[in-house]
Amino acid sequence: MTFEIDYTLIKKACNLLHQSDVVAMPTETVYGLAADATTDQAIVKIYEMKNRPSFNPLIAHFPDIEAAKKYVHFSKTAELLAKHFWGLDYHRPLTLVLPRLENTNLSHLATAGLDTVAVRVPAHPIALELLRQFRKPLAAPSANRSNHISPTTAEHVRMSFGENAPFILDGGACQIGLESTILDMTQDQPVLLRPGGATVEEIEDVLKLPVLRHNDPSATIKAPGMLKRHYAPSLPLRLNVVKPLHGEAFLGFGHAENAILNLSPSSNLSEAASNLFSMLRDLDNPKFNGIAVMPIPHEGLGLAINDRLSRAATKS
Ligand code: AMP
Ligand code: MG
Repeated sequence: MTFEIDYTLIKKACNLLHQSDVVAMPTETVYGLAADATTDQAIVKIYEMKNRPSFNPLIAHFPDIEAAKKYVHFSKTAELLAKHFWGLDYHRPLTLVLPRLENTNLSHLATAGLDTVAVRVPAHPIALELLRQFRKPLAAPSANRSNHISPTTAEHVRMSFGENAPFILDGGACQIGLESTILDMTQDQPVLLRPGGATVEEIEDVLKLPVLRHNDPSATIKAPGMLKRHYAPSLPLRLNVVKPLHGEAFLGFGHAENAILNLSPSSNLSEAASNLFSMLRDLDNPKFNGIAVMPIPHEGLGLAINDRLSRAATKS
């Protein structure tokens, strides 16, 4: 693709991202709503704008494999796939779910608290240039409001958000228009989590290994518990607690006298959302015998917070 990149616009987008703002960027699949994947407060804006009722883990985008290696562990087979599918000359939309490295500053809200990260290198020259200049990973789900269809032009993004539209880098119509294939590479056997623009046949051909279909009943996933889809702390979690039991770590919201940590002392739901996963992780410490969370109002971002809290409490 020959493409004139307007570096002034890339710089403007970078400045917005550095201020924890979101921008819409073109990729070869669909337009993404991008934010700094290392900053909880930036990620929460994605959820506010999309109006999503739950916090799904987001795909972290990188300019190349080397940049991704600072955040996730690549097995030999994962690297083989990445090299095959993420080239500058030959490229297919493939997202790899890989183990998160310890001690990275990746936002726990971006990964919805999981120890794995979905990573991908996009193909669009504007997305690649933005990623190179920003020098940090970008989390980017599709740039549409919840329940709207995925946008494949800048105009779709504008229409979906109306007057709340973010700054949009216009890169023309997306070539593929279909989401990336998502492959879980955290176990011995690769598992297809979502079919997309890169075919299973081609993946199997590169790996010389069969790919398990996540929804295929005949597929035996060796350790079922290993396909962790939701974050759950090791300690038991109780919700809607007003008075904690002895030994419980009390996670507050709003005015809370005996809270160990407080999601938002001023009852601000977006502050609470940005703190949710990192605070749960901080409290998941054997010096306590459980975590008790104060009631969170069931409105706005509170829906997504309560959704994740109830999944974390049931451990399913
Ligand atoms: P989207 O960004 O809207 O294309 O969707 C991203 C998809 O990736 C969602 O279906 C997520 O559930 C999935 N995903 C992201 N991170 C992970 C992960 N660590 N493990 C499993 N699935 C993931
Ligand atoms: Mg979408």
